[in-house]
Amino acid sequence: MRIAVAIDGPAAAGKSTIAKKVALMRNFSYIDTGAMYRAFTWYCLQKGVDCQNEEACVALIPEVNIEFKPGYVVLCNGIDVSKQIRETNVSGNVSYIASYKDIRLALVEQQRKMAAKDSVIMDGRDIGTYVLPEAEVKIFQVASVETRAQRRYLENQEKGIPCTYEEIYADVQKRDYIDSHRDFAPLKPAEDAILLDTSNLSIDEVVIEVNNIIDQKLEELKCQKE
Ligand code: C5P
Repeated sequence: MRIAVAIDGPAAAGKSTIAKKVALMRNFSYIDTGAMYRAFTWYCLQKGVDCQNEEACVALIPEVNIEFKPGYVVLCNGIDVSKQIRETNVSGNVSYIASYKDIRLALVEQQRKMAAKDSVIMDGRDIGTYVLPEAEVKIFQVASVETRAQRRYLENQEKGIPCTYEEIYADVQKRDYIDSHRDFAPLKPAEDAILLDTSNLSIDEVVIEVNNIIDQKLEELKCQKE
């Protein structure tokens, strides 16, 4: 049975870590929609375009081609930007780019096409509410700002991305605010989403919880068919 799992939630809530693991275990495709907004942001910065200038950023839509390759590789116009899109200048500007309706419409169209192929786990901010409103499983993953900032800080240290804890904390707070206050497809839980607070859970515990939610849903769907 082909199903879609939407994992939404605020910045650095650990969505992609969980989604990658569950997708591997279940042989589902994993789509990191945040990476697409990040790649677009990287391109604007490369071009020297001010990310707060909506018109100038929107004008770049026809020039930007974003693709995923195996191994979580993100290509922007054929260039591997997987590492650059995690850097602080991209993180600090991505929420402006993601608030522009025309850019969202262009990227959402691609996201829906990708999701139509196989069983999929897609993570982002608006997957359950806007991109895949029919997703069989919707999870809204949260954690305190402190926990999220600490996790992202350690992750960046491991990846060799220069930053301070204070910078990450401020970035997470800023992105939460912009993402949940934008007009079009803001960050909010879908009415039928299951809220999952991971503040006091290990990665393995969250993976178990998400797998249980998916198993339960598959069981329900099987019963409905019979
Ligand atoms: O998930 P990640 O933190 O990498 O996403 C980067 C940014 O992209 C978010 O802060 C948000 O502004 C934007 N985003 C979005 N909608 C999505 C995924 C990400 O607005 N579906």
